Amino acid sequence: MVGSDVVEVERRLRAGELGCPCGGGLSPWGHARPRSVRGVGVVRPRRARCGSCLVTHVLLAVSCLLRRADGVDVIGAALRAKASGAGHRPIAQRLQRPVSTVRGWLRAFAGNADKIRAAFTGLLVELDPLTGWLPPHPSVFADAVEVVGACAAAARRRLGVVGAVSPWQLAAAVTGGCLLAAGLSRVSINTSRPLGGAV
Ligand SMILES: [Zn+2]
Repeated sequence: MVGSDVVEVERRLRAGELGCPCGGGLSPWGHARPRSVRGVGVVRPRRARCGSCLVTHVLLAVSCLLRRADGVDVIGAALRAKASGAGHRPIAQRLQRPVSTVRGWLRAFAGNADKIRAAFTGLLVELDPLTGWLPPHPSVFADAVEVVGACAAAARRRLGVVGAVSPWQLAAAVTGGCLLAAGLSRVSINTSRPLGGAV
């Protein structure tokens, strides 16, 4: 996951500042196919190759999630609305997205909510050891939404550098774009580098 500033990503890639999970360094390796992301625009993700393991990676901007046609902030708005009690139909209407699409986001997030709540609660304590317990909500879904927001606020307080990164972009970075992925595992949630490539 990289920032959504294309020029900055290119600079970091060329300067050898982006690393492969194996520990090797990434260098430019062409581009992935352009795709249109609603709420973001047409993106043409950069590809990079690791000098050690030779695996190529697509650098996904934190404004996007894997295999989702909408930007993460639009999806996040739907998740927040659901957490405050809205149903999928009114949410779809307000965001002008198909009902089935919105229902898909909500179901996918619900399926990952306990893992997200656990991982982000851990991250929250790391970012701000003095943070109090968040008040529990009637659903794990709402708990998970709340703790994502709390992490973003704590990151902003602690680091003062994530002003340009929304809570949902932070969530995209921490989950490697897999916030709504069926295979989201504890392992793929990268809280050891809480901001991933977000900044
Ligand atoms: Zn590698």
